[in-house]
Amino acid sequence: MSPMTWEEYSRGQDAVAEGEAMAEMIQAVLDDHDAENFARLDRNLYKYTDCGASLGLELWSDEMVWSGDPRMAEIKPGDVKGIGVGSIVEGVDAEVEHEFIYPDRFLDGDEEDLKHIFLAAYDALVERVEEAARDIWNQTHGCDDCGPDDGWGRPINPECKTCHGEGTIL
Ligand SMILES: [Zn+2]
Repeated sequence: MSPMTWEEYSRGQDAVAEGEAMAEMIQAVLDDHDAENFARLDRNLYKYTDCGASLGLELWSDEMVWSGDPRMAEIKPGDVKGIGVGSIVEGVDAEVEHEFIYPDRFLDGDEEDLKHIFLAAYDALVERVEEAARDIWNQTHGCDDCGPDDGWGRPINPECKTCHGEGTIL
């Protein structure tokens, strides 16, 4: 094996630095949500979102680890390539599919801000899932007096005199 050239060496160093930056971005999501590990982040996500969102992790090994998997507690930020959030909407056969964000897409940003940029991306992702779940809920959870069932569900009528636009309460 020939000795490493300076170029190869510095490319290797860059990769190490990028790996560390990405692990720190993932760690920031845990820290910012009072989670000592991903199992806790998953539970908090369920507990503190209206739609009971759940976590998915894409690992560098290309494995996927979904909410409720006992491995969630053991996974380290450095193992994680991307974080996904999705939701199953209760009472209907519908779900908001997991959407993933990847720290490596943000590496071009200002080094000082990477953690904040990624945190904002995570919080925006959770909010998108909440909105999508709310839309599905509103399209399917009208009360009997809201109007006709459109085959998929009964859309809530905001003018409904019976439920006052609240729809059915599970
Ligand atoms: Zn109604």
